[in-house]
Amino acid sequence: MVDVVDERRTSRVAAPVAVSSLRPLSSHSLSNDSWAARFQELPKAELHVHLEGTMEPATVVALAKRHGDTLDESTVAARYATRDFGAFIEAYKWVTSYLREPADYSLAVCRMGEQMLTQNVVYAEVTLSVGVMLLRKQDVQANFSAIREASAPHESRGLRLQWIFDAVRQFGADAAHEVAQWAVKLRNAGVVAFGMGGDELARPSGEFRHVYEYAAANSLHRVVHAGEIGGADSVRDAVEILGAERIGHGIAAASDAKLMAMLAERSIGLEMCPTSNLRTGALARYLGRAGASFTDHPLPNLFRAGIPVSVSTDDPAMFETSLASEFNTLSAMGLTYQEITRIGEGGFVGAFLPAPEKSALLQSFRAKAAALTLL
Ligand SMILES: [Zn+2]
Repeated sequence: MVDVVDERRTSRVAAPVAVSSLRPLSSHSLSNDSWAARFQELPKAELHVHLEGTMEPATVVALAKRHGDTLDESTVAARYATRDFGAFIEAYKWVTSYLREPADYSLAVCRMGEQMLTQNVVYAEVTLSVGVMLLRKQDVQANFSAIREASAPHESRGLRLQWIFDAVRQFGADAAHEVAQWAVKLRNAGVVAFGMGGDELARPSGEFRHVYEYAAANSLHRVVHAGEIGGADSVRDAVEILGAERIGHGIAAASDAKLMAMLAERSIGLEMCPTSNLRTGALARYLGRAGASFTDHPLPNLFRAGIPVSVSTDDPAMFETSLASEFNTLSAMGLTYQEITRIGEGGFVGAFLPAPEKSALLQSFRAKAAALTLL
């Protein structure tokens, strides 16, 4: 069980990471403080966040107690605070091992919903690692019913949630197909897409073509983690072989001008998670260096090439980040506040929502951005 997670994560090669301090916004933009305050007021959308990665130390303490372990928050925080990749893997394995039954997922969702509402997130597509649930012989139906029930109070307070069922690439096509079947089965209960994460170098995309065709034939949207630790070819394969409509991360696309043009022309969105890329060593790996900082991130190049870009947290508790923090990293990359606002809008533009709902959310976002003079 624990090895499952180990396999899922160990492909992310360790590299020392230097987290830069934020530098000021460009001369024609707002100060960091002013921007942060205004952005807090904007309605926000998040397209790439794993439920399993949202569990704050207090949540882990509560789950551990249910399962007979006595922990304190400082112990969890210490595990999360490691910068060494091996220690991070151990922390991830350890923390997810407490998600054992439907009630555990309920608590995780409840806490996640509160975190999102606090940040004024009004829409999120949350990834569930159903591939791991199945390998652990858990009851997917029961877990998901508990998740939906737990999310209802938050949805009634203005947080619209949809779900992405995620397979683990290195578990192979049969296991991925089983995840896709569950996604189809629960499509009318809030599952909107089928995705695949894990080690993008482990198995070629061609092995999963039929799984993605099955998902598409059953009206599911398709996403793929690609170009995170893999190269530009991994992104191209995700689009051309698997029919991905959005790419998780995709930083490696920045090394291939033709691919960038293709992503822009086809409006394939990139779900960018800057802090994650630093904390996993993915950005340093892409750069071929021992370390990296936000100023090295290719997000501005990808965005300015016309590719639809959104920003997300990936595993916010593990990476000690928040959606607001991720937007602050954009200012460190030298983007203007108008550009950052457009990236915020990208979270709604890329959403897998029916046109009327998407339009309503976009209108609300733009009206608020205009009122805050952020357009
Ligand atoms: Zn992810």
